[in-house]
Amino acid sequence: MKINIAIDGYSSCGKSSTSKKLAKKLHYKYIDTGAMYRAVTYYFLQHKIDWKNENQLTDALNHIHINFQLNEWKENRTVLNGEDVEEAIRTMEVSKKVSEVSTVSAVRKMLVEQQQKIAIDKGVVMDGRDIGTVVLPNAELKIFMTAGIEVRTKRRWLELQANGIDLTYEEVKNNLEHRDLIDSTRLDSPLKQASDALLLDTSEMRLEEQIEWIYSKALSKIN
Ligand code: C5P
Repeated sequence: MKINIAIDGYSSCGKSSTSKKLAKKLHYKYIDTGAMYRAVTYYFLQHKIDWKNENQLTDALNHIHINFQLNEWKENRTVLNGEDVEEAIRTMEVSKKVSEVSTVSAVRKMLVEQQQKIAIDKGVVMDGRDIGTVVLPNAELKIFMTAGIEVRTKRRWLELQANGIDLTYEEVKNNLEHRDLIDSTRLDSPLKQASDALLLDTSEMRLEEQIEWIYSKALSKIN
């Protein structure tokens, strides 16, 4: 029997890396919902959309088509209107605006509908902020990940450096704190632990340990 796994939590506590590898281990589909909010933000910035203007917002959302594809190395790529935007959506320009865009209910409605459709046949590992609470409230396994701010900043900073994005430690830390604040205080679908989610603090854990921890919980639900 296949199940759905919802993984939520603060920015940069290892959700994506863990979810991606967990999905591979289970032969499940991995869905990075943060990438979808980033793709919408990227589109708005590219087309200079004023998302507070209802007509512009509605029109823009009608022109946005997001999907995921595997490239020749079997890596997950985010595709916006036919264009691979996997790198473009990870810039600081997008990171600075994405949480603001994510407060817009029309944006959330469109993406949540798409996310729910993808998960209908089960066998999905989905990570984000509202997966256990709003998108997949019936997911068989829900995890809420946290980690201390310094650990998260260091991980994110190293990841950005590895991708050739040169920012100071402080810039990265400010962005994480800024996003966490907006994400957890917004009115529509704020980031919070679902009452039936298991808490996983990854401050002192290696990636492999995080994957194993969730994998063993998943196996007990599958069997
Ligand atoms: O996961 P990632 O850090 O790439 O997500 C970027 C932003 O997208 C988050 O800071 C949050 O504002 C938004 N997001 C959201 N709901 C989700 C996933 C991401 O609001 N399910």
